[in-house]
Amino acid sequence: MEIKHCVNHPDRHAIGVCVITKKPICPECSTKYEGVNYSREGLEELKRRRAQKTRSGIWSRAANLAMVAQAPLSFYLLYLCYLYTFNAFTGLAK
Ligand SMILES: [Zn+2]
Repeated sequence: MEIKHCVNHPDRHAIGVCVITKKPICPECSTKYEGVNYSREGLEELKRRRAQKTRSGIWSRAANLAMVAQAPLSFYLLYLCYLYTFNAFTGLAK
Protein backbone atom coordinates (compact mmCIF):
# COMPACT_ATOMS: atom_id res chain seq x y z
CA MET A 1 0.00 0.00 0.00
CA GLU A 2 1.49 3.29 -1.00
CA ILE A 3 1.68 6.15 1.44
CA LYS A 4 -0.29 9.08 0.15
CA HIS A 5 1.11 12.54 0.28
CA CYS A 6 -0.76 15.79 0.60
CA VAL A 7 -1.77 17.26 -2.74
CA ASN A 8 -0.53 20.70 -1.59
CA HIS A 9 2.46 19.52 0.45
CA PRO A 10 4.28 16.66 -1.35
CA ASP A 11 6.63 16.29 1.66
CA ARG A 12 3.79 15.62 4.11
CA HIS A 13 1.79 12.51 4.64
CA ALA A 14 -1.89 12.74 3.96
CA ILE A 15 -4.25 11.92 6.81
CA GLY A 16 -7.21 11.43 4.55
CA VAL A 17 -8.87 12.39 1.34
CA CYS A 18 -11.24 15.24 0.71
CA VAL A 19 -14.75 13.83 0.24
CA ILE A 20 -15.39 16.25 -2.62
CA THR A 21 -12.15 16.38 -4.60
CA LYS A 22 -10.95 12.87 -3.52
CA LYS A 23 -7.45 14.30 -3.19
CA PRO A 24 -5.15 13.29 -0.33
CA ILE A 25 -4.73 16.03 2.24
CA CYS A 26 -2.53 16.65 5.31
CA PRO A 27 -3.91 17.90 8.66
CA GLU A 28 -3.12 21.48 7.72
CA CYS A 29 -5.05 21.29 4.47
CA SER A 30 -8.02 19.41 5.83
CA THR A 31 -10.99 21.08 7.41
CA LYS A 32 -13.26 18.94 9.47
CA TYR A 33 -16.80 19.95 8.76
CA GLU A 34 -19.84 17.98 9.89
CA GLY A 35 -17.47 15.14 10.82
CA VAL A 36 -15.98 14.83 7.35
CA ASN A 37 -12.64 15.94 5.93
CA TYR A 38 -12.64 18.57 3.26
CA SER A 39 -9.82 20.22 1.40
CA ARG A 40 -10.03 23.93 0.84
CA GLU A 41 -11.29 23.45 -2.71
CA GLY A 42 -13.66 20.80 -1.45
CA LEU A 43 -15.21 23.24 1.00
CA GLU A 44 -15.57 25.87 -1.70
CA GLU A 45 -17.23 23.29 -3.92
CA LEU A 46 -19.53 22.28 -1.08
CA LYS A 47 -20.53 25.90 -0.48
CA ARG A 48 -21.21 26.33 -4.18
CA ARG A 49 -23.34 23.19 -4.28
CA ARG A 50 -25.27 24.22 -1.18
CA ALA A 51 -25.86 27.70 -2.59
CA GLN A 52 -27.18 26.18 -5.79
CA LYS A 53 -29.39 23.81 -3.84
CA THR A 54 -30.93 26.58 -1.73
CA ARG A 55 -31.39 28.71 -4.82
CA SER A 56 -33.23 25.96 -6.68
CA GLY A 57 -35.11 25.20 -3.45
CA ILE A 58 -36.38 28.76 -3.29
CA TRP A 59 -37.41 28.58 -6.95
CA SER A 60 -39.30 25.34 -6.58
CA ARG A 61 -40.98 26.71 -3.46
CA ALA A 62 -41.92 29.85 -5.40
CA ALA A 63 -43.27 27.68 -8.21
CA ASN A 64 -45.34 25.67 -5.75
CA LEU A 65 -46.63 28.85 -4.19
CA ALA A 66 -47.55 30.20 -7.61
CA MET A 67 -49.45 26.98 -8.37
CA VAL A 68 -51.32 27.17 -5.07
CA ALA A 69 -52.04 30.89 -5.45
CA GLN A 70 -53.09 30.50 -9.08
CA ALA A 71 -55.75 27.83 -8.41
CA PRO A 72 -58.18 29.95 -6.34
CA LEU A 73 -57.49 32.89 -8.62
CA SER A 74 -58.67 30.95 -11.67
CA PHE A 75 -61.73 29.82 -9.72
CA TYR A 76 -62.41 33.42 -8.80
CA LEU A 77 -62.09 34.45 -12.46
CA LEU A 78 -64.47 31.66 -13.45
CA TYR A 79 -66.87 32.84 -10.78
CA LEU A 80 -66.65 36.40 -12.09
CA CYS A 81 -67.34 35.15 -15.61
CA TYR A 82 -70.30 33.20 -14.29
CA LEU A 83 -71.64 36.21 -12.42
CA TYR A 84 -71.18 38.39 -15.48
CA THR A 85 -73.02 36.00 -17.82
CA PHE A 86 -75.69 35.41 -15.20
CA ASN A 87 -76.25 39.14 -14.78
CA ALA A 88 -76.28 39.57 -18.54
CA PHE A 89 -78.99 36.93 -18.87
CA THR A 90 -81.09 38.28 -16.06
CA GLY A 91 -80.61 41.74 -17.52
CA LEU A 92 -81.96 40.50 -20.84
CA ALA A 93 -84.89 38.80 -19.18
CA LYS A 94 -86.10 41.99 -17.60
ZN1 LIG B 1 -1.21 19.96 2.99
